[in-house]
Amino acid sequence: MAPVAVPSTVHDGEQDLDLTSSAIDHRLTENDHTGGNTNGQTTLSSNENGNGVSQPNLHEINASKITYTFTKEPRDVPPPGVHSIDGATVATDHMITVKWTAKSGWQTPELKPYGPLSLMPTASVLHYATECFEGLKAYRGFDGKLRLFRPDCNAARFLSSSVRISLPTFEPAEVEKLLLALMAVDGPKWLPRDRPGSFIYLRPTLIGTQSQLGVQAPTEALLYIIATFMPILHSPAGGMKLHTSPDDMVRAWVGGFGYAKVGANYGPSLLATQEARARGFGQILWLYGSQGYCTEAGASNFFVIWKSKEGKTQLVTAPLDDRLILDGVTRRSLLQIIRERLSDEIEVVERKYTIQEVIEANEEGRLLESFAAGTAYFVCPVSLIHHRGQDVQIPMGKTGEGGPYTLQVKKWLGDIMYGNVDHPWGVVVQEEH
Ligand SMILES: *Cc1c(COP(=O)(O)O)cnc(C)c1O
Repeated sequence: MAPVAVPSTVHDGEQDLDLTSSAIDHRLTENDHTGGNTNGQTTLSSNENGNGVSQPNLHEINASKITYTFTKEPRDVPPPGVHSIDGATVATDHMITVKWTAKSGWQTPELKPYGPLSLMPTASVLHYATECFEGLKAYRGFDGKLRLFRPDCNAARFLSSSVRISLPTFEPAEVEKLLLALMAVDGPKWLPRDRPGSFIYLRPTLIGTQSQLGVQAPTEALLYIIATFMPILHSPAGGMKLHTSPDDMVRAWVGGFGYAKVGANYGPSLLATQEARARGFGQILWLYGSQGYCTEAGASNFFVIWKSKEGKTQLVTAPLDDRLILDGVTRRSLLQIIRERLSDEIEVVERKYTIQEVIEANEEGRLLESFAAGTAYFVCPVSLIHHRGQDVQIPMGKTGEGGPYTLQVKKWLGDIMYGNVDHPWGVVVQEEH
């Protein structure tokens, strides 16, 4: 996201109206010191500095200063397919932590053994959901190399989520370097070269740690990165079934924080998801407003491919501009690749569209394909949407494994992730041996 400069003169009324967005712009502008100055961190989050006066000498994250403390108790790599033991996610030997305080900025990044965090019961994150996270995978390629997929996009989104909940700013490129540093150390052992086509899930997390129950922006925070195993979420055989969200529940709202990967978005969504799972559905298709706009499928972006009434083949997905949905890296990448490679066949349309439009397209035989896309499930064909007692059945292609366009984009992106083709989106990790 490009930081937007704040107008220097704002009318009072305007300023009141735009308090949140101007606060966000302000922070991002301050963070935009891309000239390589690692000492220019400024923040508004401490009380004594709530007047917008910048503090010049706070430390930015400096990934090149990372310290290494290697584990003395290395653990076994789980057999393929095992991702948790006794209900706990298996993580690699190490993690990276970086502490922040409003007074002195970011401290030295540390790579150290994976293990519990220590927090006071009064820590901000435990009471006020001052938490945001990212999710991306490291892929062991068929050429033996280890790659991240567009980590710059995740790092930039991490910053935007952090700012939304008054956690500190940072230089996204430094977080990207920390991701590479963790994988350089743990990659060779945990994603061995003799397991091409495997992946590990990286979870950068930022939490407010200040032990102060007052409702305020925390003046202490902790950024950490862990690398974990997750189930290989094969698209369910025959496609994923979606259940539309209950009438009396929304995932996100205009003016809210649906666009941010903040923990506060997920806890409250679990109730409906659990209900839907109990009835045999994979995910909730979250609708918005009385018109029933389609937004996201669980924690994935949602897409339909239909023939418009004029007979044009269109890939349709919810827009980003009302900030209801998450700007998925998978979403962005597949829109980009379809625009590049299939523009003579498919028109990419980012707009609001309702569940009624989908139902109508289905009734008129215009609905061609549907899928959900995100890092976790990758590109997952959708075979059915259940809405208020009605089933919308979606074609799953000749093989029954997904429509042809769905499978084509899945292959294109997969080839980049696993190094079947060279592409700037696949960032190679320089591993330590
Ligand atoms: C993480 C997430 C996505 C997918 O984003 P990717 O960057 O593609 O993994 C989509 N929607 C929500 C709500 C998410 O949390």
